[in-house]
Amino acid sequence: MVSWLRKNLLLVMTVGSVVLGALLGFLLRGLQLSPQNIMYISFPGELLMHMLKMMILPLIMSSLISGLAQLDARQSGKLGSLAVTYYMLTTVVAVITGIFLVLVIHPGDPTIKKEIGTGTEGKTVSTVDTLLDLLRNMFPENVVQATFQQVQTKYIKVRPKVVKNNDSATLAALNNGSLDYVKASVEYTSGMNVLGVIVFCIAIGISLSQLGPEAHVMVQFFVIMDKVIMKLVMTVMWYSPFGILCLIMGKILEIHDLADTARMLAMYMVTVLSGLAIHSLISLPLIFFVTTKKNPYTFMRGLFQAWITALGTASSSATLPITFNCLEQNLGVDRRVTRFVLPVGATINMDGTALYEAVAAIFIAQINGVHLSFGQVVTVSLTATLASIGAASVPSAGLVTMLLVLTAVGLPVKDVSLIVAVDWLLDRIRTSINVLGDAMGAGIVYHYSKADLDAHDRLAATTRSHSIAMNDEKRPLAVYSSLPTDDDKLTH
Ligand code: ASP
Repeated sequence: MVSWLRKNLLLVMTVGSVVLGALLGFLLRGLQLSPQNIMYISFPGELLMHMLKMMILPLIMSSLISGLAQLDARQSGKLGSLAVTYYMLTTVVAVITGIFLVLVIHPGDPTIKKEIGTGTEGKTVSTVDTLLDLLRNMFPENVVQATFQQVQTKYIKVRPKVVKNNDSATLAALNNGSLDYVKASVEYTSGMNVLGVIVFCIAIGISLSQLGPEAHVMVQFFVIMDKVIMKLVMTVMWYSPFGILCLIMGKILEIHDLADTARMLAMYMVTVLSGLAIHSLISLPLIFFVTTKKNPYTFMRGLFQAWITALGTASSSATLPITFNCLEQNLGVDRRVTRFVLPVGATINMDGTALYEAVAAIFIAQINGVHLSFGQVVTVSLTATLASIGAASVPSAGLVTMLLVLTAVGLPVKDVSLIVAVDWLLDRIRTSINVLGDAMGAGIVYHYSKADLDAHDRLAATTRSHSIAMNDEKRPLAVYSSLPTDDDKLTH
């Protein structure tokens, strides 16, 4: 027992922090603390978010570049296509599960809308704009700018500069704004363009691997940077139980009329939560088992720390450092796989978000008494998939991209504000499913590429010893010799 506790101390502390945070949060609610005091209570949690977010950029850059530089083009192609197939498959399964449940349970009763009232004004976005923004973000015009800003199409009101007739009626119309028209404008908004950074790093990593020995120094730089960041991650992990405790406590203290919203949106929450439960406990494990023939639940046990961190932070990118740690340290997944597959997965693969968006959109249709045709349901599933790919891996991002799903089927976008009240909880849970999906994907990709990677390592080792024996000056594969291999992956 003592040795088990020593080995799992961090995990026990993290689980304890969630329970204690929730308990203290509910207890302190009675004190009716001021927003200022709640902010002080959440402050250590805010610091945890800062620490985790601070590591995202260097971690994504160093992990992707070092990971890809250690693979050859054929291997990265295989890994990439395996991962993308998995992402697509699981997202579609998640959306179908969500749609099936929301149609069967039918949580949306029009009387709910009468009770909570109509929502506040929201903005309209079109599917094409979202798709184009996704592509624009994939190819940023400035890499430095991509580290803190991203492109977003916005619709702005423009007043015509010239008018054909300048009679008094036209001029009056011009002045009172009735000639104004709406124009799409591509603008930069704050927030890291993770997709752009990823595409850039993938390109750099692949080019480095093609350069071979010539790129040795640069590859070494990123390999070491990657190790340094992971060292920092270990330190932050020991702070995370305290941070998570404060985050959860603060969040529970912040909520207004807990019982009221929970009562009205109870069935909606039940639908989302049961969908997430089915996806994480049945669908994903089944896919994992069918593909790897290994016990998925044993695998999931190794991911517990990441799961809880996602629950605490509600952000899959902030959880990324911990997910790396769990996969490599607890589950022995090869670094070359995790380094490539995970950052991409955390950005584009969001099963929980896709499921949630599909349920929420149909729920909004139901409370508005709108009957969706089969074609519209298909549109919901397609746009929910797109919206989950486009959602940033930060808290409540899914709520923003939901506007796209609602617009696509002509539902009132302002009604999103009706479900905001419970999003703090659903966001955390769907984020943990997003993280689980990414991590299981890495496990599956590793299973299929293990033999290939091992063969590559054996070949590198043989070439190395051969070169040493021949005292060959050139040593063609020497670039790989000093990079971490499978054997030392557990030692960092
Ligand atoms: N918070 C989620 C994530 O980081 C995204 C979402 O809002 O669904 O994965």
